[in-house]
Amino acid sequence: MPQDKMIGIDLGTTNSAMAWVDEAGRSAMIPNAEGEFITPSVVFFSESEVVVGKNARTVVTSHPEMVAQWVKRDMGAPFYSHPIRGNYLPPEVIQACILRKLKADLVRALGPDMQAVITVPAYFDEMRRKATADAGEMAGLRVLDIVNEPTAAALAFGEALGYLSADGKPRQELNVLIYDLGGGTFDATLLRLAMGKVQTLATDGDVQLGGHDWDQRLVNYAAECFLKTHSLDPRQDPATLNRLYLDAMEAKHTLSARNRAVIQINYQERFAEIAVTREQFEEMSADLLERTSYTSRQLLGVAGLEWKDLQRVLLIGGSTRMPMVARMMQGISGIQPDHSVNPDEAVARGAALYAGHLLAAQAGRALRSTFQVTNVNAHSLGVEGIDTETLRKKNVVLIPRNTSLPARHTERFATKSDGQRSIAIKVLEGEGSQPGNCIVIGRTVVRDLPSGLPKGWPVEVTFEYGTNGRLAVEALVPGTHHQARMELVRETGLSNEGMTRWKQPVSEAGGFSAFESAAQDVLHGAPSSREASPSGIGSAIGWAPAKADAASTTTATPQTLLAAAPAPLVASPESVQRWASSPQPLTALSPLPVGEGQGGVRLIKQTKPKRDRRVPKWLERTIGHGIMLVLLAFVGYLMISNLRPDLLKTNSGRDSKPSVPSKPSE
Ligand code: ADP
Ligand code: MG
Repeated sequence: MPQDKMIGIDLGTTNSAMAWVDEAGRSAMIPNAEGEFITPSVVFFSESEVVVGKNARTVVTSHPEMVAQWVKRDMGAPFYSHPIRGNYLPPEVIQACILRKLKADLVRALGPDMQAVITVPAYFDEMRRKATADAGEMAGLRVLDIVNEPTAAALAFGEALGYLSADGKPRQELNVLIYDLGGGTFDATLLRLAMGKVQTLATDGDVQLGGHDWDQRLVNYAAECFLKTHSLDPRQDPATLNRLYLDAMEAKHTLSARNRAVIQINYQERFAEIAVTREQFEEMSADLLERTSYTSRQLLGVAGLEWKDLQRVLLIGGSTRMPMVARMMQGISGIQPDHSVNPDEAVARGAALYAGHLLAAQAGRALRSTFQVTNVNAHSLGVEGIDTETLRKKNVVLIPRNTSLPARHTERFATKSDGQRSIAIKVLEGEGSQPGNCIVIGRTVVRDLPSGLPKGWPVEVTFEYGTNGRLAVEALVPGTHHQARMELVRETGLSNEGMTRWKQPVSEAGGFSAFESAAQDVLHGAPSSREASPSGIGSAIGWAPAKADAASTTTATPQTLLAAAPAPLVASPESVQRWASSPQPLTALSPLPVGEGQGGVRLIKQTKPKRDRRVPKWLERTIGHGIMLVLLAFVGYLMISNLRPDLLKTNSGRDSKPSVPSKPSE
């Protein structure tokens, strides 16, 4: 049986690339059918075929409604944000079209036997990772794993510097900053590279910052110049605007190599040639560059490092070709950025190395390059609790972001009210202190608690986050011998039926009509699927994943229940039940039926650690009794002053002149 080739795929927002581990055990790039190492991540849905790459990009201007690009930005959402010929397609389906083309090119170059690793940005959450794996599956790829882009880049870098080879030559440990500025996103990651070891220390990024923003600055500059000369705004016309974007990008590329570029605009029979110098370009985009600098500085702080602790700066992503990037990084770090790996190739090469690593491990084979990869979680994981002081909901973080994986943490909570019979646990992902600013990634309820538990009864919640991205949640109610464990399996995205349905048009080499009928089937077929009504789709498009409490996209599935130990207070055994009522994952967009009243109980976070008992109980009791006596005396006084004021008068009369000696009567 032929051995599977070890493939790495960099599925980028703007461009994708492929690599493999060759017979000599080294990473090597694979060209696409057009003979290039880079394939634009652009898909053109024509009547007769689906075109991916360079040829699709040429029709962006003429047929924008038939072209999908920047789809990666929408991963994790139910639909790609622009309708394709009036139809809303899931982003993973469009990504699958890109992967299908890449796979065809790989098969052409290497034959059919292969297994692949696909890369994602470090900040991608589980939802987006799963959508990526699904895209691979729909494309007919055997996906070994999803790996972080900076980790992959570090592997390629490690290979280039000899850190992965088993030649026994010791090499110095390096702290490396990976600065990845692509077309639509910015990603900064700190890694520690040791012999055979890649350890992620911290990661951060900006999902809405990339080369496209630099293009935009040039577009606006050129359009404003045109407006000044001709009193016409070329941005008003979509086709002209698209053309202008392409020209601005070309000019940007030119400015990476030369000092001056020209943008031509032809609009409503007027013409202008607008010259831009590199200096002007750098000036108009200085704030964008500063944002990347800020994130890099923050990241270093988070990892507890200073610039002097850093040995290497690695620039990845096409936008790092702009000279301003290397200059800025050298300025703040004092390190000349490394060029040992091509910025367009590092991620794909590293992914291939990782695929080789996984396949070798599976087969129990030792590979020439042996290494170990440690990651961190890119998003904090917590539980929704209620602050007992302010009574406001809060996100209680159990595993902060940038924690090395695997990680385990226990936090103590308490029940909210007397006689509480169940406890709702809402698992949150995100950095916000308010649950509304986080994503709910799962909910579960501990039911059938014994009756008569007083308010404030402790509840211990443990999160265990594995290297496989799986989160196990354990709830323990001390004193009741109640314990339960469940694993969060993110069932978001396409259902199995959905996958099967979409796989059909993706795998057929046909045109758009097959996608259209799949979209119609999904839309009208299952009422519980995504959103059946067009208005539902509208709201789906406006879906903001970062704040999607109501649009929770994951459900918790109890996988393991620990048998309840005999409990003195308990009549029925502990049970953990699935909160989300809908078994159909496609209902991800409809709000989960979690009314405030349902279950009626929530977890309360104990905001303060238990007070140190410096005052003994007996003294506290005596003081309490004293206060009661004073209060009673006061009430008594009030009553007497109303009923028998005469009594008080006598007293006061006596009291008022006690010290005045009465004159002896004459
Ligand atoms: P992604 O990771 O988003 O797929 P890439 O790493 O391929 O993106 O980078 C694409 C971005 O790099 C685009 O914005 C492109 O304009 C920019 N780019 C490519 N080459 C150059 C260059 N020579 N100068 C400036 N920017 C460049
Ligand atoms: Mg990239």
